[in-house]
This record gives sequence, C-alpha cells and structure tokens, in this order.
Amino acid sequence: MSVRRAAGARAAHPSVLRIASVYPELLGTYGDGGNAAILATRAGWRGQPAEVVSVQAGDPLPRDCDVYLLGGGEDEPQALAAAGISNGQALGAAVDGGAVLFAVCAGLQIIGTSFPGTDGKVHAGAGLVDLVTTPGATRAVGDLVVDPRSELGLDVLYGYENHRGRTSLGVGLDPLGTVRRGIGNGAGQRLVGGTRGLTGGDVEGIWAARGAGLVVGTYLHGPALAQNPQLADRLLDEAAPGLAPMDSSDARAVAADRAAAALRAARAGQTSRG
Ligand code: GLN
Repeated sequence: MSVRRAAGARAAHPSVLRIASVYPELLGTYGDGGNAAILATRAGWRGQPAEVVSVQAGDPLPRDCDVYLLGGGEDEPQALAAAGISNGQALGAAVDGGAVLFAVCAGLQIIGTSFPGTDGKVHAGAGLVDLVTTPGATRAVGDLVVDPRSELGLDVLYGYENHRGRTSLGVGLDPLGTVRRGIGNGAGQRLVGGTRGLTGGDVEGIWAARGAGLVVGTYLHGPALAQNPQLADRLLDEAAPGLAPMDSSDARAVAADRAAAALRAARAGQTSRG
C-alpha cells in the first residue's frame, strides 16, 4: 500500500480548494467541524484560497470537492449519516478521482463495511475501505496518543477518544499508526516493529490509497487537525500537490503554530508522566 496517492492524482493545486464538511449536524458532536476550519485557514496561510462546503443531511454529496471530512457522532446520527452517504456513490467516486477523505471516529466506522448501532443491529457502512467495526465490551474514553507509521514522516499525534466500537482493518489496509496511549482501533490487531516502517504496538486508524485518492481515518478527536497541524498540512499537500510552505512572515500562522506547539509540549509532559 503506498503512502502517497497513486499516479493520476490531481497534478496541480486548484484555484479554490473545496473542503466538504459532510453532515456537520449529524457528525459534529465532538467538535470535529474544527478540522474544516483548520484546513481552510492553513491553506490560506499557504497562499491557497479555500472554501468550506457544508453538506447538510439530505443534500446530495458534491463530487467536485478536494477534501471530504467526516466527524464523530452518537450511534443514531451515525446510522443516519451512513445511510445518506451510501445512498449515493459520490464519495467513493470523488476519492477515486483524487480527493482526500479524512474520517474521524464515527466517520471512520461509516466508511467501512459495517458498524454496530445502539439497537444491537448491524448497520451497513459506505464500504469505501475494507474495515469492520464491532461493539467493544467497554467504552474507550480518554487521551489518545498515536505514533504514526514512520514511513509517513509525521510527529506523534495527540487527541482524545470516546467510542464503543472496535475496528478491524482488512488485510493489506495500513493503519495511521500505533497507540502510545489509549485504545484506538482496539480490535487486538498489532504491528511488529520494523515491518513496513511501523513502530510496533496496537494499530490506530487507517492511511490508505483508493484509486487516485487517499483515505485517512482515526479515532483522534481534538479536533485532530488543530492539535496536530503537521497532519493538517500533510493532508493539504496530498489534496493540492505543490502547495507552498507556510509563510513564516505571517504573524497569525506563527502564533497558531506556537500555540499548537505549546499544547503539544504540555501533552507530551502529561504522557511521559504516565
Ligand atoms: N458511535 C460510535 C461509537 O461509540 C462513534 C463515537 C464517536 O464518534 N465518538 O463507537
């Protein structure tokens, strides 16, 4: 599985980067809508005009966005969101055409083949990637700290998790990383150090090419891209190859990165204290 998208992905950055926030009223419980704001703002700081397209439940999903964001939610809204997404093939077609999909928690569960509902029923997912979610014995609640696969070249990722589901990745589907602290996918799948550039440990999330696009999923709330701006910039690089680096003379960008660094340093201190 390649780290980057397959050849044929968008060659140059678009005039306006379109970021779809999918069903924010259903998948916005944990503040993951902030990911859209982070991406649009950081794109602007990198000289790339961007707009957030808020897709309300019941509206057709646009096929022409560059980034699609799915957030977390409670079981009932999650089931409604999944039904809306799998009714059309728009999301799969957009990713196949080169878009980047970033899916958090309920969003991660929805893009797989099935997930559990409160009613004990198994709900069909959108089937975009080969993963399945089953109910856990307990709720996973608390800090989640993730070591990204080393081949991704990303720093440690910080956030929090709150989910009952446990997610198993299909054969050949690579995780985002491994769990340093918390539960993450929590399905007992482990990766051994050295294999495919992995750090070892329990797996978390996914990072998978699909067609000319990229699917990244995680249990990290936070919102994840606010606490991990390097990941935000990486998703922008994937969605708009050739993007300029951050303008270091932009005081807002410098202040934002300083704030994120301070937060990350505090989290690192907490983590080392156990
Ligand atoms: N409803 C799902 C679960 O509990 C996802 C929760 C979430 O998105 N935080 O597993």
